[in-house]
Amino acid sequence: MKKIILEIQNLTKYYGKIKGVENLSLTLEEGEIFGFIGPNGSGKSTTIRSVMNLINKTSGKVLIENKEFNKDDIEIKEKIGYLPSEINLYDDLTVKEMLDYHESFYKKDIHKKRIELVKKLELDEKKKIEDLSLGNLKKLGIILALVHEPKILILDEPTSGLDPIMQNVFYNILKEEKLKGNTIFYSTHILNEVSKICDRVGIIKDGHLIKIEKVEDLSKKGLTFVTITSEEVKEIVKDLRIDIIFEEGNTIKFGNVLPHDELIKKLSKHKIDRILIEEATLEDVFLHYYEGDQGCLKEK
Ligand code: ADP
Ligand code: MG
Repeated sequence: MKKIILEIQNLTKYYGKIKGVENLSLTLEEGEIFGFIGPNGSGKSTTIRSVMNLINKTSGKVLIENKEFNKDDIEIKEKIGYLPSEINLYDDLTVKEMLDYHESFYKKDIHKKRIELVKKLELDEKKKIEDLSLGNLKKLGIILALVHEPKILILDEPTSGLDPIMQNVFYNILKEEKLKGNTIFYSTHILNEVSKICDRVGIIKDGHLIKIEKVEDLSKKGLTFVTITSEEVKEIVKDLRIDIIFEEGNTIKFGNVLPHDELIKKLSKHKIDRILIEEATLEDVFLHYYEGDQGCLKEK
């Protein structure tokens, strides 16, 4: 059993009558990259701001290394690197001035790490913050979150605004952090980020955490799409009790969660002209969760 680094217990946050998140619990193990995925407005930032004590929780608890985290705990704060989804900094300063100022807060020497990150992310220190593009502002935010070499990274939509090349540079930085044993909580609404770098993923929908799964298990969910052409389609639909996704003449396509040997046993009773079995993509699996009962891929 790995060490638990972050634990959210029954977190609920209402903004007046508006639900932010409800009864959300999850734990992060040391050294993992946990993807927190959900569409806009699903409650990702609310969860993260609650963890960071930037907003008051309606109820629930947040533990960092088994200790309740409150605002004034400097010792825990130094262990965390936080990247907010919207970065607000003193516009008048240059990047260099901002980073110098930031460095002055730390007793330990973080200068070397700063140079390394500025170089990797190709950020121009001479630029004024107010003149930075969204992507460059994001880079500065990333540097501010990582420069003190925290054990825990809490990143709220870190790649929005970064171009694809920089996204890859950033993924590599995160992989290095993981190799050092650091733990990363990574919120995103972009699906393929999850499959690229995360170990586990929590799916949040409308303020509720609806699923936690290892990324490798998600893609191995056994979900396939089957397309069949047969004179007996009607009988097949009845026999297999399937929900049709697509239908044209004697051809049907359906989502299948049966093991293949079972599927073939059932189909062997029928005359089949053509069959195509396709593996579902990660995207299909996610849609399956988001669409819930309306989805055509109900869990059987
Ligand atoms: P996400 O980060 O996943 O896009 P948020 O946590 O920002 O989602 O939002 C979750 C829900 O809480 C949304 O319905 C949003 O409108 C609402 N919400 C977020 N912040 C506030 C706020 N400051 N005041 C009122 N409602 C808010
Ligand atoms: Mg957000």
